[in-house]
Formats: sequence, C-alpha cells, structure tokens
Amino acid sequence: MSAKREAEPMRAKREAEPMRETRTSRTRPEWSDLVLYRPPQSPVTINLSDNTSRFGVPPSALAVLADPASARDLVRYPDAYAAPLKAALAAYVGVGADAIATGCGSDDILDSSFRAFARPGERLAYVAPTFPMAAYFARMNGIDSYSVPLAADGTFDPDALLARDPALVYLCSPNNPTGALLDPDAVERVIDRARGVVVLDEAYAEFAGTSRASEAPTRPGLLVARTLSKAFALAGLRVGYAVTNPELVTQIELSRGPFKVGALAERAATAAVTHDVAWMREQAARAVAQREKLAASLRDLGLAPLPSAANFVCVRVPGASRVAAAMRTRGIAVRPFDGLPGLGDVLRITASPEDEQQAMLAALKETLACA
Ligand code: PMP
Repeated sequence: MSAKREAEPMRAKREAEPMRETRTSRTRPEWSDLVLYRPPQSPVTINLSDNTSRFGVPPSALAVLADPASARDLVRYPDAYAAPLKAALAAYVGVGADAIATGCGSDDILDSSFRAFARPGERLAYVAPTFPMAAYFARMNGIDSYSVPLAADGTFDPDALLARDPALVYLCSPNNPTGALLDPDAVERVIDRARGVVVLDEAYAEFAGTSRASEAPTRPGLLVARTLSKAFALAGLRVGYAVTNPELVTQIELSRGPFKVGALAERAATAAVTHDVAWMREQAARAVAQREKLAASLRDLGLAPLPSAANFVCVRVPGASRVAAAMRTRGIAVRPFDGLPGLGDVLRITASPEDEQQAMLAALKETLACA
C-alpha cells in the first residue's frame, strides 16, 4: 500500500474532528424541565391507577388477535388512513366515515389536531385541573396556553376561558382527573363563541352515557376526541379517533404522516367496534355500578369523593403521593395528584370488580390508619 493511501484514514480523522467540535448539542434547553412519563414500575397485584378497564377484553378483538390469519398481511402497510376502521367507528358513532380521523391513541389525535389548528405562538385555553397532556402537546407544538379554574362539579366561566382569543380550546368531559361532566351550558357557550377549534375530549363518554360526537360534523369548529382505551378496554392497541367536520379531518391527517394505526390494531379495533358494542355497554354499566359503590365506601371511610360520570373516582386525601406509595407496598396502585388547583391532594381510583375494590379499600384503610 502506498504511503499516500495509508495516510488517507488519518486525514479523514483529522477532518472529522473539527466537525465534531463545532456540532451543537441536540438537547433543547427550553425542554430542560421536562421528564419522560415513567409511572412507578414496582409490580402490583391490582392496578387501579390509569382508568383502563378491569372488566375483560372485547371477545371479537381477542378472536382477531388470536387468529394466525390476522398476521398474514403484516408484510404490507395497512390502509394509509385506516378506512375500514373509520367505517366501523362511523357506524358506531352515527356519522359519515369522512367525519372520522383515526390515530395512535387519542393522545395522537390531540397532538396532531393541536398542530393542525393552532400556529406556533397562538393560544390554547383549557380548564384546570384537567388531563395534563393537553398543555404538554400545546407546548410541544409551540402553542402558548392558559387555563381558568374548573370546579369539582364541572362548572367554569366560559367567557373567562375565551377572554384571550384562543386559537384552540381543550375541554374534557367527563373530566380527568376530577370525574364530573362539564357544565353543558358552559360547553355550549364555548362552542358557540370560540373563534378557533374546540377540542372536546370524551375519552370517558361511554361511562357518562352522553356525548356530542354525533353533532360534531355539522357544528363548526367542534372536534370530539374519543378512544378505545377506556370503555372498549383496548388501551394496549393504541387506537383513538376524532369526530369532526370532514375539512378538519383532512387537516389533522395532513398534520402528520399516514399509517398511524398498525394493521393488527386496526383489525382488532374494527372487530370490537363492529361486534362488541353490546359487550362494551354491559362492562361500562358494571364499571358505573362499581364506581357508585366505591364512592359510597369512600364516604364510609369519612372521605369526600368528588362527583364522577367516568369509570374512576377522585377523592381528596392529604399527602396523596405518600398514601399511594404506601398502598403500592401493599400491592395496590392508585394514582396520586399533589396540589391540584382548587383541590389540593387527591387520589384517582379506577372502578373495578368488587374483589379488587375491597382489596384496594383495605389497603387504603390500613394506610390511613398508619398515617
Ligand atoms: N384523554 C383523556 C382524558 C385521558 O384520560 C386519556 C388517557 N388517560 C387520553 C385522552 C389518552 O388516551 P389514549 O391515548 O389511550 O387514547
């Protein structure tokens, strides 16, 4: 090998080094306060922390997932915008298929619709406390946000909410983590008066038995976000959807790439929404009955659960994080929130079958007795 050729790798190295030195950090300083979502990992026997269903898996979805034939098409991409799933969801909701956008969970629907309907520097308005991912996705899309107080009974001031001319409004009804349906008159006023898009998150609508989804396609600016993660008991599939005007559907789909729902998830979700609606309604009714029992049991412990129309109960418990950690050592996971605006420390507890609720109540009782 000639000396020239031998020297080449050395030269390449010398040229690469200054590049490495001048490359700027890929860490965004404005995100330095953010941490990844890492719920506690220690194993528990009963997990009542995330409002997923404790009442089984939709049989049709299970059959699809257990059928080896379902895997045969995995070599190909699914439909770009999940047309078969859209058709099934449209029939379930009672709207046209062009009024549905699907996504990787309703989280993806929130993220992509925020990006579609507000420019960086514009504002999102929301009522607090509410689902924290709303403000998070606003921030990730360069959208400023502000909130107005939400009372535990679901009332809020709609005019204060709109006072700063938001490009986007986020409302969650029933609200997570408090549980109550939002005051329908206040929601109506917001939809009527908002200049921008009103994203109404109805992740828990099936437990409340009331929804605005079917009116969304013809109500200018209204977008209802829904999910299969709660009443349909399919959180692991990651399937969410928006119901809105077809023009807005296109904007959401433009705001991110195609193929957001995997092929197997789409098949299983389509089966559940087509064949398991009666099953889902039965399980949702069981969850609602258990929620009422849970609220009564909490009152028996001298606690004051907030009104809930969802599949969980929110209850004020001073030192909630400490209490939840102690319950965890007893094998039970519930979700603590410390210092919520207007509420203070609360536990959010998913409604579940009686044996699980009794075990949870025993752990809570023991923990409070030790406090
Ligand atoms: N909205 C609300 C109010 C929620 O509570 C959740 C899940 N906790 C979501 C949206 C996101 O659900 P997913 O992405 O599983 O559809």
